[in-house]
Amino acid sequence: MIKALLVVDYTVDFVAKDGALTCGEPGIALENYITKLTAAFLDEGHFVAMPVDVHDVDDPYHPETKQFPPHNIRGTAGRELYGSLQQLYNKCKKDIHWMDKTRFSAFAGTDLELLLRARRITQLHLVGVCTDICILHTAVDAYNRGFDIVIHEQGVASFDASGHEWALRHFKNTLGATIVR
Ligand code: ZN
Repeated sequence: MIKALLVVDYTVDFVAKDGALTCGEPGIALENYITKLTAAFLDEGHFVAMPVDVHDVDDPYHPETKQFPPHNIRGTAGRELYGSLQQLYNKCKKDIHWMDKTRFSAFAGTDLELLLRARRITQLHLVGVCTDICILHTAVDAYNRGFDIVIHEQGVASFDASGHEWALRHFKNTLGATIVR
């Protein structure tokens, strides 16, 4: 059975100490786990996608422009993957499906569902940031589309510790997700 790993928004802006909209230490702490898990999924021939937020400067039509400081701006270093994940990506580019996304959910306005259906994939593994924003919205959309969801607790983080804990409970109790510890 082919599984999918979605590595969501693990970029410099969202993770690095000086990132534009960083979740800080909790995000930095995921680096080894995410890079190793990604390498393992690639080794086993699974589908690996990296849905990454993209914005244009001062886009008047984007709801986040008013909510957050500029982040993940197209073509900037802030939009590169964080640390060893970028190195792995450079090495394995042809086997990793890069996806630009413009909303919290990796399903919103992307061809993610078509890619998964074409490969007969039913099980989605989620890692990245933030647990209670982009991981949450992606998981809800996956649930509504009938996918089985696996959340890797050591692979998700948030700047908001209580939001992180709440989201983990929501994945398990409301979305029926499997939580890998
Ligand atoms: Zn954004």
